[in-house]
Amino acid sequence: MLTLLFPMAAMAGVNVEGVRIWPAPDHTRLVLDVADKVDHKVFALSGPSRLVIDLENTTLKADFDKLDLSGSPVKRIRSAPRNGNDLRVVLDLKSDIKPRSFQLEPNQQYGHRLVVDLIDEGGLKARKPSEPTVTENANGKRDIIVVVDAGHGGEDPGAIGPRGTREKDVVLRMSKTLAELIDAKPGYTAKLTRTGDYYIDLRSRTLLARKHNADLFVSVHADAFRTPQPRGASVFALSQRGATSETARWLAKTENRSDLIGGAGGVSLDGRDDMLAGVLLDLSMTASINSSLGVGDSILGRLGSVAKLHKKGVEQAAFAVLKSPDIPSVLVEAGFISNPKEEQNLS
Ligand SMILES: [Zn+2]
Repeated sequence: MLTLLFPMAAMAGVNVEGVRIWPAPDHTRLVLDVADKVDHKVFALSGPSRLVIDLENTTLKADFDKLDLSGSPVKRIRSAPRNGNDLRVVLDLKSDIKPRSFQLEPNQQYGHRLVVDLIDEGGLKARKPSEPTVTENANGKRDIIVVVDAGHGGEDPGAIGPRGTREKDVVLRMSKTLAELIDAKPGYTAKLTRTGDYYIDLRSRTLLARKHNADLFVSVHADAFRTPQPRGASVFALSQRGATSETARWLAKTENRSDLIGGAGGVSLDGRDDMLAGVLLDLSMTASINSSLGVGDSILGRLGSVAKLHKKGVEQAAFAVLKSPDIPSVLVEAGFISNPKEEQNLS
């Protein structure tokens, strides 16, 4: 009976040991470091806009006053004990938001976390529908669009080097430099999936590529291994196994059917039977992988003149960000952040 009334997690008593906030263009992520999983409730109130986070059997050991709230919809954070052992946190907001909350398991940098996303629905709607990036050249042709994706971000630091260098930071700097170089080349336009220190989920990264009408998608990462020796850069394209499962996923999801394969002037899957849609997707996927392997090969050729290469050829794996069926996509591991020398080079 006691176990039923008081679940174990709740009985233990949990401390909030740290807080972080990550403002992104369409949402702000508030993260509470908690010693263990925590029973909680999150709800929004309007007039004035507030967000309430109720945590059961929880004590606050962190200082909300130290958070930099700039760039977020939060004006102020208050907190007080409630019902004896519980904790109530109230966020005073500049505007209404839609809340979402979930818990994260420990990773390399942090322990258990409670994540509360403040989603700016107005901002999301304002950005829709997709506004393809079309810049006309002097010769009447549009620019080649390269979407550069800095891996990880926000709560996800990626790999961490022996001197504490975080993958999310070095790949953002590299991606920004890469985008500048691409923009400086006539006929090319670069777009970044993220411009700051916040997380974008993997599917959203491919959706951003689609939104920008990308001709090429380049995801920038740094590799890591459990020993310090491995070194060198690698380039990945999607594997056949990854392609097959993605084709199945596209066919299963009816909302994908209205998307054009191959962008403006492409082929619609709408109204095609499964067999034909499958064949079209397969052709598109195969062509994209072949283009990815080709572009990956020339990237390796150039990389090889400035850095050690980990493998001579383009490797293939089922990375989620590479799964666009009609956008050639490569993932570049610029070096091993777990190797002290390369950590320094990446920095
Ligand atoms: Zn990575």
